[in-house]
Amino acid sequence: MKRILAAFLLLLCLAGCTPRPESYTADFFAMDTFMSVSAYGETEQEAQDTAVRLEQRINALEPALSRTREDSDLYRLNHADGAVCEVSEDTYAAIEAAMQYAALTGGAFDPTMAQLTDLWGINTDNARVPAQTEIDTALAHVGYQNIELLGNNRVRLLNGAQLDLGGIGKGFATDAVAELLDGTQSVLATLGGNIGAYGENPGRDSGNWVVGIADPDNNTDYLATVEVRDRSVVTSGDYERYFEQDGKRYHHIFDPATGYPADSGLRSVTVIDESSTRADALTTALFVMGLEEGMAFCEQNDIAAVFITADKQVHVTDKVGAVCTFTFLGEEKGYTYAQ
Ligand code: ADP
Ligand code: MG
Repeated sequence: MKRILAAFLLLLCLAGCTPRPESYTADFFAMDTFMSVSAYGETEQEAQDTAVRLEQRINALEPALSRTREDSDLYRLNHADGAVCEVSEDTYAAIEAAMQYAALTGGAFDPTMAQLTDLWGINTDNARVPAQTEIDTALAHVGYQNIELLGNNRVRLLNGAQLDLGGIGKGFATDAVAELLDGTQSVLATLGGNIGAYGENPGRDSGNWVVGIADPDNNTDYLATVEVRDRSVVTSGDYERYFEQDGKRYHHIFDPATGYPADSGLRSVTVIDESSTRADALTTALFVMGLEEGMAFCEQNDIAAVFITADKQVHVTDKVGAVCTFTFLGEEKGYTYAQ
C-alpha cells in the first residue's frame, strides 16, 4: 500500500509539482485496483466537481465490466447457459471493442478467458498451478468466436464460453473519463496501470504530462518517461499480479494458445495511444506475442509501444517518437536502450 501511494505521489510530482490553478485529487479503489483522478480548475470547488464527477462515472462502470459481482451483466451472461442476454450499453460497447481487438491480434488478446483466469486464481487465496487436464478443459471454452453480438445490446455466448473483460476494463473506463471532458479541462487519471493525461498540464511550461514507465523490479521507480498530452499511457507487466512457486513466477497475463502465463521473455509492455481501450487490449496482446512478433505487429499497425525485456533491454517502436517525448532512464539499473 505504501509503495503504491509513493508511486502515485511520484507520478503526480512528475506530472508537475507546482500546479498554478487549484487542483483536487480523488483517490479511490475500484475495479480491484487503486485509482486517482486529479483535476484542475480556477477554484478548488471547480476542480473537485470535475474529479468527483469522473470518479462517479468510473464507479458506475464497475458493475458493467465486473464479472464477479453477482448483480453484474457479465455474471448474468456468463451463467446464462447459452441463452440470449440483454446487457447495458456500456457492457455491450466493451464486449464489442474486446472482440475487435481479439480479431486484430489474432486472438493473442481474448476476452473469453474467464474459466482459465478462475483456474489459476492469481491474486486470490486459491492461486495454484493447475493440472494440464484442468487447463485443457478450460481452454476448450476459450475463443472470442464464441461471442455472438446480436444488436440492441443483446449477446449470446456459445460453447460454454465465459467473458473476462479484465484485460480491457480499465482502458474502457479511462476512455469514459475522456468522453466527459470538454477538451479544455486538465485531468490526470491513474487507473492502476492505465493513465489518461488530458488537456494542458498547468504544472509544466510545456503543458505536457510526464508519465513514468515502471522498473519491473521496483515499480515505485522508473526506467523511462514519456511526455504526452491528450493521450493514454497503458502498461501491462508480470510484476503487478502474480505468485511464485518453486522459484518460478506465475503472473496474470495468459497465453490463450497454452493456457499458461505468457512466457515471452518480456517484463512489461507500454502502449501510448489516443484510445485507452485499444492501448489496454494491445498491451495484453503484445505481452503474449513477445518482442519480435510484437514489434512487427506495432510497425504494421502503426502502434506506439515500449517493450521491456527480461534480459534488460528497452525497445521502442518507430511511432513512439511521433506521439511523445521518450526519455530513457534505465542505464544505472543495468538496462540497455536498443535503438
Ligand atoms: P492489468 O489488469 O494489470 O491492467 P492487463 O490489462 O494486462 O493487466 O490485463 C490482465 C487481465 O486480463 C487478467 O487479470 C485477466 O483477467 C485478463 N487476461 C489475461 N490474459 C488475457 C489475454 N490473453 N487476453 C485477454 N484478457 C486476458
Ligand atoms: Mg490490458
